[in-house]
Amino acid sequence: MAKRFAGIFITLLLTVLFFAGCKKFEKAGAVQAPGVAITFDDNYVDNWVEYLPLLDSAGVRATFYICRYNRLTADQKNKIRIIESHGHEIAYHSTNHYNMMDYVYKQKHSLDEYMKCEIEDGLKLMNRDGFYPTTFAYPAGAHNGIADKMLQRYFKSVRALNGTNDFTKSLASTEKNDVLYGLGIDKSSKRSDDVIMQVIKSAFENKDCAVFVAHNINAAIPLSVTRERLLKMFAYIKSLGMKYYTASEISN
Ligand SMILES: [Zn+2]
Repeated sequence: MAKRFAGIFITLLLTVLFFAGCKKFEKAGAVQAPGVAITFDDNYVDNWVEYLPLLDSAGVRATFYICRYNRLTADQKNKIRIIESHGHEIAYHSTNHYNMMDYVYKQKHSLDEYMKCEIEDGLKLMNRDGFYPTTFAYPAGAHNGIADKMLQRYFKSVRALNGTNDFTKSLASTEKNDVLYGLGIDKSSKRSDDVIMQVIKSAFENKDCAVFVAHNINAAIPLSVTRERLLKMFAYIKSLGMKYYTASEISN
């Protein structure tokens, strides 16, 4: 009898240990389901507003990293409010769009000066108008670990650029996403649709979030993603049942 109870006890114990062991394989973190984060940089608010219906038509919630806020007109600031009201995230892209590495290491300013002029001053202006960015993108993707650390005082994540052919860098996972590496999808990136679809597919298969970067939408300049490419991406994302994340939603 005692032997039988011991047997049951050991079975129960093993079952408990098995499930406890499984726990660490569960997904816990920002990216719970495979998805895509589409981000736009700079201050092309007139262009972006024009294409809100295109983004709405596919249920896209994107992130707009804003720079040179001090140079926007009242009408353009209002357009940012409209963009936000469509469910998009308004994020931050510095005051003057200076390249941080050049500003600090070539022009010999201190990192504290960078934080004051390029982060705090511009952020204050946005805050005054009711915009409270919680994520940041480096102009030209120029960053280093020291600045990343300092910027954590202000933001949940910083986004740099993925200038490599290692596309896994642009897949944000459940792990710590405090530095994101966006993959360019503008015409200037010279990337093919196939590569971009591959990255989306990898995000789907690995239950990650693919992070993309563009500037304008459907404009006749290289720094713009085409309408055709966006539609292709939207259709593929929909066919895989993936979701859209904003930058702050995948940052932790
Ligand atoms: Zn930029």
